[in-house]
Amino acid sequence: EATFVLGVRAAPLGSRYVLVLAEDRSEGRRLDDMRRDFVANISHELKTPIGAVGLLAEALEAASADPEQVRHFAKSLTREAGRLGRLTQDIIELSRLQATDALESSEPVDVRHVVDAAVDRNRVVADARGISLVVRGGRHASVHGDEQMLVTAVDNLVANAINYSPDGSRVGIGATVDDSGTVEVAVTDQGYGIPDDELDRVFERFYRVDPARSRRTGGTGLGLAIVKHVVQNHGGDVRVWSQVGNGSTFTIRLPEAHTAPDTRSVPIPVT
Ligand code: ADP
Repeated sequence: EATFVLGVRAAPLGSRYVLVLAEDRSEGRRLDDMRRDFVANISHELKTPIGAVGLLAEALEAASADPEQVRHFAKSLTREAGRLGRLTQDIIELSRLQATDALESSEPVDVRHVVDAAVDRNRVVADARGISLVVRGGRHASVHGDEQMLVTAVDNLVANAINYSPDGSRVGIGATVDDSGTVEVAVTDQGYGIPDDELDRVFERFYRVDPARSRRTGGTGLGLAIVKHVVQNHGGDVRVWSQVGNGSTFTIRLPEAHTAPDTRSVPIPVT
């Protein structure tokens, strides 16, 4: 490896120094590669909806005498514009998260508030498809972090659970905390599931198991990458279990913040 050889020549102090130098440079290059890939992927992902918006605008103009067609093209135009909006929002969010490992703000956050806010954001879509959102809560638990970012992460998991499940199924959202002080938010669905050999890959930017289905649901392909970064920035991890045809469980684990010990024994009703 060229950088490493350069490091050996430039390093009179022995192997330890050389190793640090080499790791440093390859990490820099890895980040450069990642950035380049991300930009290439973004360009590719943006081309489709931008192209569609252009074509639909032309079709709309040509169809102006036919109200039925105008309605049809206008509806498609709105859908593609929405996709572009979500994609832009997710790209900005992910770029921000990738730019730094540190949190912009960190304060005690009630995990139950996070779960409730994330579930509320998905209620209308779930109702429209007859999917019940079942929230199970343990005792109150706090984590240190950025509430809005945590809501975004759980929101993405709940939205996916709905998107990749059949109408009329159930999505369970549970928040628990174990004796070792780990807070766990689990989102379980009875959906299509993910094949074993793709489980790792779903956290990659723009990776989709079934691109056609992701497109139909209006997904940006960035949801789980955002979840992973938010959770990592909070000192936690995210895991997935899944069985094709039976459903999936995504679990976010975060260190508990011991800020309000007097609220810890308050029972939370099962809703
Ligand atoms: P998308 O916008 O495509 O949903 P995500 O990053 O959120 O992007 O998810 C990446 C891919 O992982 C999805 O396209 C889908 O194939 C798969 N996936 C995510 N969540 C689930 C789930 N709950 N059940 C089945 N597949 C899922």
